[in-house]
Amino acid sequence: MGLPDNIAGAILTIDLGALVANYRRLQRRVAPAQLSAVVKADAYGLGAAHVVPVLLAAGCRHFFVAHLAEALAIRPLLPADCPLYVLNGLVPGAEALCADQGVVPVLNSVSQVAGWRQLAVTRGAALPAVLQVDSGMARLGLSAAETAALADDDTFRRQVPLRAVMSHLACADDPANPESERQRRRFQQLASLFPGVPRSLANSAGCLLDHGFHGDIARPGIALYGGDPTNPLETPFEAVVRLEARVLQLRSVPAGAGAGYGLSWHARGTRRLATLSIGYADGWPRHLSNRGSAFVRGIRAPIAGRVSMDSTIIDVTDVPEAAIAEGDLVELIGPNQRLDDVARDAGTISYEILTGLGHRYQRRVLSAPEQPPTLEISA
Ligand SMILES: *Cc1c(COP(=O)(O)O)cnc(C)c1O
Repeated sequence: MGLPDNIAGAILTIDLGALVANYRRLQRRVAPAQLSAVVKADAYGLGAAHVVPVLLAAGCRHFFVAHLAEALAIRPLLPADCPLYVLNGLVPGAEALCADQGVVPVLNSVSQVAGWRQLAVTRGAALPAVLQVDSGMARLGLSAAETAALADDDTFRRQVPLRAVMSHLACADDPANPESERQRRRFQQLASLFPGVPRSLANSAGCLLDHGFHGDIARPGIALYGGDPTNPLETPFEAVVRLEARVLQLRSVPAGAGAGYGLSWHARGTRRLATLSIGYADGWPRHLSNRGSAFVRGIRAPIAGRVSMDSTIIDVTDVPEAAIAEGDLVELIGPNQRLDDVARDAGTISYEILTGLGHRYQRRVLSAPEQPPTLEISA
């Protein structure tokens, strides 16, 4: 941060205009439901301090993080009337801090409900929350029986006014999977025990399912940040990150020469290699060893050997000699190689690539063009 570009080993560019375009596309898709934004894990590694104000300006009025500590960092960026929810809910003892900071917990278990109610009793005040019910994923949320018991409890309703009832889809990334429809039905049943309370079910992939999944508040994350929530996607979301690394050294090696730790790569003939200033300490996955690629002026250059902590060797034999020099930047995520391509080569998902992005990059943030906020629809 704050360093001149020309000394950076690798450059991560974050396009806030693309972020806004993705937000608007999702908002149109789920309207009249409201579109919230999931900004956990520092907005999937992109930097919540940049992402949150831009989404606010685009009309977003509901934000989700995973941890209370994340919420405390983001709360000052939001107007007081803009709710910020903590998906993982409360660890025991965190209730008072959460309430004092105006953060709304998602209550995921009977004990989280009990802790929050206890604080409401102690303070003699109603404390708003979101209630999560388990519709079939068995990760977080109350069971059907626990939900029914709570719905019958008038004291609970007075102590804890519910801002939403939510659940999470396990298989939405596969639109053909019938489990999503089963989850939707179970969710509707449980949510109907709380009449008049807004409903929230859809993650990014859920936003791409039909309107029955959108509820009142949709909760996308990855699609905002340019990842494909469903694969393959006919019209991909706009790329928000671009990653480039600098060429540290160029060399020619003779047939049979090895490269990198363990010499796991060998030259099949005379090859030209470039060593890039990026490695697994930057979140460039070691699983890309001998599998992934870089692009040099649009030409594919496969990774040769193991990705090191701070460097990666690529085979640039197919790149004309005059087209690459030491000090040049080559593309790792960009127009020729999308985020999801890198994730696939690394045997993982775009989420893991983004949230693993390192802190050594020179980060360039392209600001979003000024635009009127999207039409606001109140819940
Ligand atoms: C992370 C998360 C989301 C966002 O999911 P994406 O697949 O990134 O859209 C939504 N809801 C919950 C409960 C989550 O944990």
